[in-house]
Amino acid sequence: MADLTIEAAGSALAKGELSATELLESVLTRASLTEADLHSFLTIDHEGAMAAATGSDERLRRGEPRGLLEGIPLAVKDNFCTRHLETTCGSQILAGYLPPYDATAVARLRDAGAVLVGKTNCDEFAMGSSTENSAFGPTRNPWNPERVPGGSSGGSAAAVAVGSVLGAFGSDTGGSIRQPAALCGVVGFKPTYGLISRYGLVAFASSLDQIGPFARTVADAVTLFEAVAGYDPLDATSYQGLVPNVRPTLGEGVSGLRVGIVRELGGEGYDAEVAAATSAMVDKLADEGAKVSEVSLPSFEVALSVYYLIAPAECSANLARFDGVRYGLRVPGETVEEMMARTRAEGFGPEVTRRILLGTYALSAGYYDAFYGKAQKVRSLLIAEMATVFEQADVLVSPTSPTTAFELGAKTQDPLAMYLSDVCTIPANLAGTPAISVPIGLDSGGLPIGFQVMAPALGEKVMFQTAAAVEALADFDARPAMAVSP
Ligand code: GLN
Repeated sequence: MADLTIEAAGSALAKGELSATELLESVLTRASLTEADLHSFLTIDHEGAMAAATGSDERLRRGEPRGLLEGIPLAVKDNFCTRHLETTCGSQILAGYLPPYDATAVARLRDAGAVLVGKTNCDEFAMGSSTENSAFGPTRNPWNPERVPGGSSGGSAAAVAVGSVLGAFGSDTGGSIRQPAALCGVVGFKPTYGLISRYGLVAFASSLDQIGPFARTVADAVTLFEAVAGYDPLDATSYQGLVPNVRPTLGEGVSGLRVGIVRELGGEGYDAEVAAATSAMVDKLADEGAKVSEVSLPSFEVALSVYYLIAPAECSANLARFDGVRYGLRVPGETVEEMMARTRAEGFGPEVTRRILLGTYALSAGYYDAFYGKAQKVRSLLIAEMATVFEQADVLVSPTSPTTAFELGAKTQDPLAMYLSDVCTIPANLAGTPAISVPIGLDSGGLPIGFQVMAPALGEKVMFQTAAAVEALADFDARPAMAVSP
């Protein structure tokens, strides 16, 4: 049962062939068999999940209307506020923190009938690409436990890959949904900025952060997206227009679609097998009638540098709130200043500290124009370039990650090498545009390869249409060995 798609489980539940309680028990068994190797969860809420599943079964018995995710076991990243359920963001500074409210996305999942199994591991405050920056220990890759699952939402990706949940949510500031999805062989989607409310998502870099789903199929990612998307008055950046209606175009194929291959997202630094699998998929799209051409976006070459000014700058402002007064950890001191300094020094790990220092520096008087101001100008240039390219192409494609999953510890001593993992995913965050990663195969070491499809703002329809075609052409149905029930 833990291997069912949301679609299949939903229909079995609706027909009464399966109960929400049985389904929950089955995924909890899967989690109990895999968690010792993976550590994809920070919290498993056995009691809360069982109560939700029982409630869902009761509703079926009483013939009450069914929610879109009725009885479906899901997880959310540990930077989503969950009422009275520990929310740490993978940080010591929030260890033991119990939010008094649910994030809007969580509230909508509960309203849709979903069963929240728990909170998934992540890099501290979502800063990282391997989940090794979690203060509570790393998550491992289900395809090879010596490898990282990607990050920062590595726990969500790993849990979906093994069937400890049927779907999950994460946050994507520079690639934190798409990159771990690629490295774990699942689908990961970052919507257009503003389509999913971030109320109750602990902020990292507010002009970039976006919530999105992980699933095993493109159709399931659509269902998860539909359950949470749409205007929320509690989020000032929430989009007030209609959410693109993506489902009807899912099966339409790519005949006649203009597909642009991004020249800048390839070449040096890319695994040969990733490059080969990407071109093979592009050839298949062309065989299906897509009009493929190469496009160039010169500003993509500097997107990583722009991101590593803007994201730390915003992070330094957002994380000022963790001061020992209002939330979590407090390390006493002689004065208030000393208490705050000690709390922050003890509570934040090295990567978060590095980002706060970098961001504070980039925003300081005398450096603001030279660093932050200039980065904002290049960001505008990148947005303009993307708009021009999207006049020639309906979608842009690239690898999701330049490499497959790397070994634990391989990049922890070299922040720049770690940052380079997001070179393909960051542009969509800077532009606020939608992008998805779809698994297209395994490399010779048995590690998954992800294919990224990008579209213009609110272009989710054509993005999902292409993603569904990629999924069908890839016909990827391999599962990690640890997900296969004995
Ligand atoms: N890896 C990138 C970073 O460390 C992106 C993180 C994210 O998307 N949350 O900033």
